[in-house]
Amino acid sequence: MFDTVIIGAGVTGAAVARELSRYQLKVCVLEREEDVCCGTSKANSAIIHAGFDAKPGTWKAKLNVAGNRLMDQWSRELDFPFVRNGSMVVCTDAGKMERLEALYQQGLANQVPGLEIITDKKRLREMEPNLSDQTAAVLWAPTGGIVCPFLYNIAAAENAAKNGVEFRFRSEVTGIIKKEWGYEIATKEGLITTRTVVNAAGLYADVLHNMVSERKLQITPRRGSYCLLDKTAGTHVNSTIFMLPGEYGKGVLVTPTVHGNLLMGPTAVDVKDKEAINTTAEELAEVLEKSSMAVKDIPKRQVITSFAGLRAHEVGRDFVLGEAEDAKGFWDCAGIESPGLSASAAIGCLMAGWVADSLHAKKKEHFHSKRRGIVHPFELPEEQRQELVSQNPAYGVIVCRCEMVTEGEIREAIRRPLGARSLDGIKRRTRAGMGRCQAGFCSPRVMELLAEELGIELTQVTKSGGKSMLVYSDAAQVHLPEANLKWADVLNEG
Ligand SMILES: Cc1cc2nc3c(=O)[nH]c(=O)nc-3n(C[C@H](O)[C@H](O)[C@H](O)COP(=O)(O)OP(=O)(O)OC[C@H]3O[C@@H](n4cnc5c(N)ncnc54)[C@H](O)[C@@H]3O)c2cc1C
Repeated sequence: MFDTVIIGAGVTGAAVARELSRYQLKVCVLEREEDVCCGTSKANSAIIHAGFDAKPGTWKAKLNVAGNRLMDQWSRELDFPFVRNGSMVVCTDAGKMERLEALYQQGLANQVPGLEIITDKKRLREMEPNLSDQTAAVLWAPTGGIVCPFLYNIAAAENAAKNGVEFRFRSEVTGIIKKEWGYEIATKEGLITTRTVVNAAGLYADVLHNMVSERKLQITPRRGSYCLLDKTAGTHVNSTIFMLPGEYGKGVLVTPTVHGNLLMGPTAVDVKDKEAINTTAEELAEVLEKSSMAVKDIPKRQVITSFAGLRAHEVGRDFVLGEAEDAKGFWDCAGIESPGLSASAAIGCLMAGWVADSLHAKKKEHFHSKRRGIVHPFELPEEQRQELVSQNPAYGVIVCRCEMVTEGEIREAIRRPLGARSLDGIKRRTRAGMGRCQAGFCSPRVMELLAEELGIELTQVTKSGGKSMLVYSDAAQVHLPEANLKWADVLNEG
């Protein structure tokens, strides 16, 4: 029997798992996909919001600001990229200044530090040369930031695993029954018993909650679509640029990413299907059009890919956090739509504290707060890179030329605890396949490495688990020409 079973391994579940692993508890995470970060946590704007958007007093407001504050420490301890690049809300219509002022006042009420309304055109041009010429004023929030959501999610989960949390993948929860002593959870792999449950199942948190509670939740998927631009466009803006928010949220933003790309989006369209992460021509056209409202001269021909994510919008509009009123020991993290990524570290701390208290759990004497990420030789000084390559020549073989990812990194991504099992798993851990060619060149070699490391046939290698095989017969056996580059080849090419 477990003390706690967490359902869902997105940023919420991983943050709760990490914080619960500080206690002397037997904790398990059940995830229906084959990896962490396969739900909404993999497709969002990657912004750590400053915290002026949500209504004062709501969970969203309190935990956004608290989560934002925790990010420096978490990124240091868990070694994932996070940059405080600041954010701007741009008002291009002097007639709407009172809305900008209202946002400023809301931010003050939420205790967002450093907020400022800037009207000085010269200063704004220095800060952001590509702001729209129509800009009347800007709400500047210096604590706004950008993060790599994949690496953050993976890092928190790895750290939880290091501290004893068990992760079970391909374990979809199909039923939950309340017992006197706790809960019996049905998965496709069998029954699991636990004293408490943490429901962090994203879009499906209502379905799981409604299995044990009469006070029903209802989550509507709200789709947001994006265009991602090549790194050549990555410095078009320095901070994250928002339009004035509307009824459906924060509107279309333009932002640099921590990896140096430019991101534009999202739209906000309510859909029925909780799996509808397809993009549509209409929504992408809307992204392209609206992104120009606050930022000028965006090099839109540099789009390298598009994608969509689904917000878990609960009818009550706030995060649903706490023990279900009529199901003792069943703890909800539901309706975690934006700013859920920003708030996740704080949600993790809050929820872990509640659950541990309810179980009268004591803290462990030895908690490993630190985790190291995969070394990326491209970012190392020449001497250190050479040293690494002499110790392990696989770090001298470049497999993904766009993102300069080496064989050593890919092997490491597979060998780690909670290691990659698919092309997407490799992509999210190393960025192989994330670049301009979108995996066109490196996929065959990454597939070979996956097959070799996992001891499986090439025909069993998948894009993202399940039935997403990439080649279907031995006749399609992929034999790469000796295309792998060495550092010298690349550096000589400039
Ligand atoms: C378009 C868009 C833009 C956003 N931008 C931002 C932003 O810039 N900043 C910000 O702070 N927030 C943003 N968000 C919100 C943020 O992405 C989410 O709040 C956050 O990722 C939610 O994480 P989660 O772990 O709760 O859910 P998820 O990441 O969806 O994880 C839930 C997990 O539960 C698993 N699961 C579901 N059902 C079951 C089951 N029955 N059994 C087992 N496992 C199950 C799923 O497979 C999934 O892995 C955005 C969201 C969207 C859609």
